[in-house]
Amino acid sequence: MKLYGALEAGGTKMVCAVGHEDGTILERISIPTSSPDETISAITDYFCEKEICALGIGCFGPIDLHLGSETWGYILDTPKFLWKHFDIVGAIHDKLPVPIGFDTDVNASLLGEITYGSAKGLTDVIYITIGTGIGAGIMSGGNLIHGMLHPEAGHMKVTPHPDDDYAGKCPYHGTCFEGMASGPAIEARWGRSAKELTDEPKVWELEAYYIAQALTSLIMTLSPQRIILGGGVMHQTQLYKLIRAEVIKDIAGYLNTPELADIDNYIVPASLGDDQGIMGALKLAADAVK
Ligand code: ADP
Ligand code: ZN
Repeated sequence: MKLYGALEAGGTKMVCAVGHEDGTILERISIPTSSPDETISAITDYFCEKEICALGIGCFGPIDLHLGSETWGYILDTPKFLWKHFDIVGAIHDKLPVPIGFDTDVNASLLGEITYGSAKGLTDVIYITIGTGIGAGIMSGGNLIHGMLHPEAGHMKVTPHPDDDYAGKCPYHGTCFEGMASGPAIEARWGRSAKELTDEPKVWELEAYYIAQALTSLIMTLSPQRIILGGGVMHQTQLYKLIRAEVIKDIAGYLNTPELADIDNYIVPASLGDDQGIMGALKLAADAVK
């Protein structure tokens, strides 16, 4: 069976894996993200020995996804200044001349869930990660959405909770969705890491309030058949019940679909145990050959 490479490119670590198109992961390593030179060498050293026939990359953003653009495959205006305007696909391809599939980290995770996970067979699905940042991968009518740049749903505006006077963590918007609900926002608001706040109900009431607002806006705009939630913060499993109830409240009876009537199967955790991103990158690799 053909071997494919998968790279989950993140701001703190690069996960490299080798596997098959059926989603089997044979082996993987994790490389800390340092300077581009050092990091790319470690990545290509790993893959060059593996005889892979293509590589898929799910990458932190913003990135250029426009095929035909002179800067396709580049990281754009990231605050990670060493990586700003870095040709990540080109730098890898120079040393590893195989077809490369490239998309956002969140679109890769979504593709993983659609290909191998609980969203198999669906055409309109949203994957949201709530971790250090917040991002959304969107499939609409069977297509992964890129649009003008790519969706940046983590930066949508949300209305602050009446009991919440936190000024927000986003350097651009203050109180946007990410500014209010990311892991670092929780930590800054409450003065302790999100992990240590499990037994503080008010923390999760506010968190669910913001997540539900964002989900409701996405439901009203894109009419997804399912929403999948991932990322470190969503390890707080008590959030699901709270978010579902809050979404029903926010929709306020305006939509009546079978999917919403079965909300426990509408707003769901990722089904691939945190492997959705790397498995989606495998699928990007397989698709790059086609
Ligand atoms: P990243 O977004 O950097 O790829 P994660 O998705 O793991 O990585 O997100 C990291 C963030 O998630 C941190 O802000 C951390 O506080 C938070 N986090 C990680 N684990 C938990 C947990 N069990 N409960 C709540 N928050 C968590
Ligand atoms: Zn923002």
